[in-house]
Amino acid sequence: CGIVGYVGDKESAPILVSGLKKLEYRGYDSAGVAVVNRNELNVVRATGKLRNLENRVVADQPKGNIGIGHTRWATHGRPSDENAHPHTYKNVAVVHNGIIENHLALKEQLRARGHVFSSETDTEVFAHLISEELEKGKDLPDAVRGAIEQVKGTYALAVVSATDPNRIVATKNASPMVLGLSEGQNFIASDVPAVLEHTRDIVYMEEGDLAIVTASKVDIFNRQGQPVNRATRRIDWTP
Ligand code: GLU
Repeated sequence: CGIVGYVGDKESAPILVSGLKKLEYRGYDSAGVAVVNRNELNVVRATGKLRNLENRVVADQPKGNIGIGHTRWATHGRPSDENAHPHTYKNVAVVHNGIIENHLALKEQLRARGHVFSSETDTEVFAHLISEELEKGKDLPDAVRGAIEQVKGTYALAVVSATDPNRIVATKNASPMVLGLSEGQNFIASDVPAVLEHTRDIVYMEEGDLAIVTASKVDIFNRQGQPVNRATRRIDWTP
């Protein structure tokens, strides 16, 4: 339902939780964050109010200057800690808005290749597919492209990997995603209010776009994999 991501020089977890609070108005049943610290993935999730997630974040102090966060409105799998995003497999963590229509068939194929699932969600297939693509030797953006090709449905998707710890890969199809640009740090979000306290320079991703987001820059590619320029808009309203 709500997505936020941060890469920069600050601790990401508190920024992610605060961004998610700005998306609370959309409704949700659970929430979580995944932050990357060098080659370590730290995930904190909680059912219910963001206050529950915040308490766990304060207790666990997950470290990392890059991370992704999510508020979930369950479509596949009941609201629970296990079904809350981010979903992980091996080194990969994903957050997702939307519905993967062919998730049952994909899960069956992945199980046949030895994969074990830890949630009831449609979303978790992304973590498994991307991880498989990485194991084929692809870099993170190409691994995400390889996973997207196998998936039918709607998505705003953000991905981090402990094997590629300096960038977020974000892509969208029929669910909104924006990029928030700033000095020495950049943001992704499903909606502008999540990042407005940090930046008013916003890029609206277009259908099929894939963005590679680091602390110093953002590169955007269209569905065909060609680099594209998307206008940066200065947001002059306050929610
Ligand atoms: N279909 C996903 C799930 O049920 C994402 C739901 C959402 O957009 O929050 O976990």
